Amino acid sequence: MPVNSHTVKKGMVKRMSVKPTVLKLGGSVITDKEKPLTPNLEAIERLADEIARANVSSLIVVHGGGSFGHHVAKQYNLTEGYGDPAQVTGFSETHRAMTKLNSLVMEALISHNINAVVVQPSSCVVTKAGRIQSMERKPLKRMLDMGLVPVLYGDAVLDSEKGFAILSGDQLVSSLAINFGASRIIMGGDVDGLYTKEPKANKSARLVKRVTLEELKAQKHDIEGSKATDVTGGMLGKIRELVPAIEHNIQALLVNAAKPLRVYKALRGKEVTGTIIEKG
Ligand code: ADP
Repeated sequence: MPVNSHTVKKGMVKRMSVKPTVLKLGGSVITDKEKPLTPNLEAIERLADEIARANVSSLIVVHGGGSFGHHVAKQYNLTEGYGDPAQVTGFSETHRAMTKLNSLVMEALISHNINAVVVQPSSCVVTKAGRIQSMERKPLKRMLDMGLVPVLYGDAVLDSEKGFAILSGDQLVSSLAINFGASRIIMGGDVDGLYTKEPKANKSARLVKRVTLEELKAQKHDIEGSKATDVTGGMLGKIRELVPAIEHNIQALLVNAAKPLRVYKALRGKEVTGTIIEKG
């Protein structure tokens, strides 16, 4: 999709309103999840190149924490919320770890001439019991209107009930997509999409190419009794977070961002191996 036309009025740049695409780069792809604080620089660089080449007219990027976010957050038990003053240090350290990973992503995007701008969730989101309660919307909207690419990430945030919480990149994706009327969500993970079973441990797992919310729900009902779609672990959380956006008629496409050109093809709207989840 070519870059959009602008209308310039009294020094203001106003873009024709284009529905943004929300792209998630999974923590499992941009870091080595097994090794604390270890980025996958090769993947970050390749993905920045694919995003640049795809040249999408309105884009929001969200990335996960992988071995940067979860490691420190776990050490200080941050998901439990505030219970001990020592956790305040944990909050600061978790955020710092995430800014380190984010700066690597930003360097890669900007070196590929993408006009990316960091939007730190810790500074613009408050959660309530771990769910997004409020998000500063105006700066993001204006960034999109200006043709900038906002980049957000899973982060430690302040929580009105628990003191603080860990906000996942997946929850952010869904909320941003609904808030900014996204045309679609592209989830880049380390597997080809949604499988009938956890794919790494089950050789018989089959890739589900297209599924509706209703089908997903129906399959989950007889999950214990048969070969129904087994959305456990990280994938279950992901699907649960995506449901509200899909209910808003925003299509989600799950692709393998660890494999070259999958994200590029998805962004260009080309045929690509993956899973389409839609309202139906
Ligand atoms: P990310 O860090 O990229 O956001 P996660 O590691 O949290 O992703 O979740 C994705 C993981 O979920 C996959 O790597 C896979 O091992 C696991 N998973 C569990 N069940 C499924 C399933 N039915 N289909 C695909 N992946 C699944």
